[in-house]
Amino acid sequence: MGKRILVTGGAGFLGSHLCERLLNEGNDVICLDNYFTGSKDNIVHLMDNPYFEVVRHDVTTPYYAEVDQIYNLACPASPVHYQYNPIKTVKTSVMGAINMLGLAKRVNARILQASTSEVYGDPTIHPQPESYWGNVNTIGVRSCYDEGKRCAETLFMDYHKQNDVDIKIMRIFNTYGPRMDMNDGRVVSNFIVQALKGEDITIYGEGNQTRSFCFVDDLLEGMVRLMNSREGLTGPMNIGNPNEFTIRQLAEKVIEITGSKSKLINLELPKDDPMQRQPIIDLAKKELNWEPTIQLEQGLIKTIAYFDEQLKKK
Ligand code: NAD
Ligand code: UDP
Repeated sequence: MGKRILVTGGAGFLGSHLCERLLNEGNDVICLDNYFTGSKDNIVHLMDNPYFEVVRHDVTTPYYAEVDQIYNLACPASPVHYQYNPIKTVKTSVMGAINMLGLAKRVNARILQASTSEVYGDPTIHPQPESYWGNVNTIGVRSCYDEGKRCAETLFMDYHKQNDVDIKIMRIFNTYGPRMDMNDGRVVSNFIVQALKGEDITIYGEGNQTRSFCFVDDLLEGMVRLMNSREGLTGPMNIGNPNEFTIRQLAEKVIEITGSKSKLINLELPKDDPMQRQPIIDLAKKELNWEPTIQLEQGLIKTIAYFDEQLKKK
């Protein structure tokens, strides 16, 4: 028999793929979202399924439902969106964590937190193991997100130690794929849309900063495996693709695949933009027998096809 599963942020990029997967596996899924960055368009195809419920709700206020598992994904993920209302971003991470941990405690559910590689800030250790404490500015433009997520990790661990709540902390590295919001300002969606429209490709700074990009299907496999891993394995656990690219290399790859005539231009580098990021995934390999299987070119081809279709609909 399937489980009763709550997905907060279920109408977002990762959340909508997760809801779909959990439904396909025979679970009863509640998708909770306030539609700040998510959209009904991402989940409309699931709405005929009687085992799928959609709730318009904000995680900064308590929510109660009898469930077996909670995936806590509610939080804007793109810098443009999380910086739009930084106080709200902190509230979403911190109060959202308190409310969802309270629910997990009350109904004895297992709960997974969608944490982030941003907890490492602009890392001074490269690549990043889970044991690294990070290098984060407490008062910069990215702090509302980074510190909110760091505090959420603290809350998760303290609810585990103090109240024996069954927790999993997943540190997600940059993930991309179909259903990313076309206008959310993240690098993969920006570059693909610019290339398809023949507009200039906006590289911030010189483009020497690096990221390691994971395709959404790989990430979800890691997420579901972590949720269902042995009791007591709390994490934090890095989940991401260790293949590291400079932002310039990413732009060149997108141009190559799309065959676009777009030119690369350089714009100002945003403040506190991390210079490098690459996960060490030994823990996930050992404990979950997980590693990514879809490499950048293959994942970009699928994502470009999605954006191409979306643009043609307009
Ligand atoms: P997204 O913006 O597409 O999805 C976030 C969802 O949360 C949206 O549907 C949004 O409407 C909802 N939401 C925001 N604030 C809310 C609130 N107060 N109450 C209820 N719902 C709220 O982003 P995503 O890429 O799908 O990210 C999902 C989660 O994974 C986030 O917690 C994010 O921090 C984390 N994460 C993502 C990445 C990535 O590369 N995609 C990397 C690291 C961490
Ligand atoms: N970036 C860029 N051009 C863009 C959008 C982003 O060069 O149009 C850069 C950004 O400065 C950062 C990297 O790409 O160095 C990844 O940015 P994103 O916002 O996708 O994620 P994050 O910085 O949170 O990893």
